[in-house]
Amino acid sequence: MRPPSTAAPTAFTASVAPGPLPGADPTAAQGPSSSAGSVVSSSTGPTLSPGAGPVVSPSTGPTAFPSPGPTVSSFPAPAVFPHPDPAGSPLADSSSSLGTGGWRAVLFDLDGVLAPTAELHRQAWADLFQAVFAQAGLTPPYTEADYFTHLDGRPREDGVAAVLASRGLDLPWGGPDDPPDRDSVHGLGQRKNLAFLAALHGHGVQPYPEAEAVTEALRRAGYGLAVVSSSANARPVLAAVGLADRFPLVVDGLVASRVGLAGKPAPDTFVYAARSLGLEPAQAVVVEDARSGVAAGRAGGFGLVVGVDRGAGRAALLEAGADLVVDDLTELADRLIDGGPA
Ligand SMILES: [Mg+2]
Repeated sequence: MRPPSTAAPTAFTASVAPGPLPGADPTAAQGPSSSAGSVVSSSTGPTLSPGAGPVVSPSTGPTAFPSPGPTVSSFPAPAVFPHPDPAGSPLADSSSSLGTGGWRAVLFDLDGVLAPTAELHRQAWADLFQAVFAQAGLTPPYTEADYFTHLDGRPREDGVAAVLASRGLDLPWGGPDDPPDRDSVHGLGQRKNLAFLAALHGHGVQPYPEAEAVTEALRRAGYGLAVVSSSANARPVLAAVGLADRFPLVVDGLVASRVGLAGKPAPDTFVYAARSLGLEPAQAVVVEDARSGVAAGRAGGFGLVVGVDRGAGRAALLEAGADLVVDDLTELADRLIDGGPA
């Protein structure tokens, strides 16, 4: 199996191509799009230098966060921290109980960190690829190792392309308007997304038990908070778990697509969030459960990269670049707040 970070640019059009799935459009363009190329190029380094200036200067950008809500994901310019006067900023509150690390904000991944939706994603991916592999006669069968190696934390289409490349299956990339029944990278992604949303709304989801208390404690301690998720469903998931009001800044898959940010493991979305809070990456903490997300935090030069072991494994998260690995978010609060989260 060849992880996408080491795949050659031509990996998607692998020579061991058993042919398209029944129903695949044989006339469609083959091979990766520029987006597919980003999977490969992301391993070569960030497109936003950690030392680069803010994506948008606060002096030219908006002066306040957009109000929370479903429209935030589609705003075209980065938000600027709403307290340009340091005296009025909770980040500069001298009475805060920020820890001694000098960090001012905590950037949370969502799925698998705040919300136990990783299981819903895992199941939706497994259902998709088990069916696709069986239909195309691909071996070895899809396993959970594929999820952690190719899918966890990555933008949807990048993950689909990585799994297909790992088995030498060549499907057209397609486009975002592909219907879910089309055998293309986008079509398979749509199919998985519909299954995920059906599970989210059908079964509902609760946040991890400690997520609400820990994020509230961090907020009270003076940390800026943001969610940085590859998912295009971050807003619905945050709403489903009752944490939407806690995060005025959400950099999700929709923002990344609109602004043109490379997905994890590239650090761009995390860097964008830090800049939007008026901070350097070194002043922010990244909290991630996926190897790709941990690698993004490491590549971005963030002050602290915390792995939350929700199944990826402590050793794998440390190997990906985590400074420390915790079993739950309470340990994170203990580390970041003087005197603990109470
Ligand atoms: Mg995650």
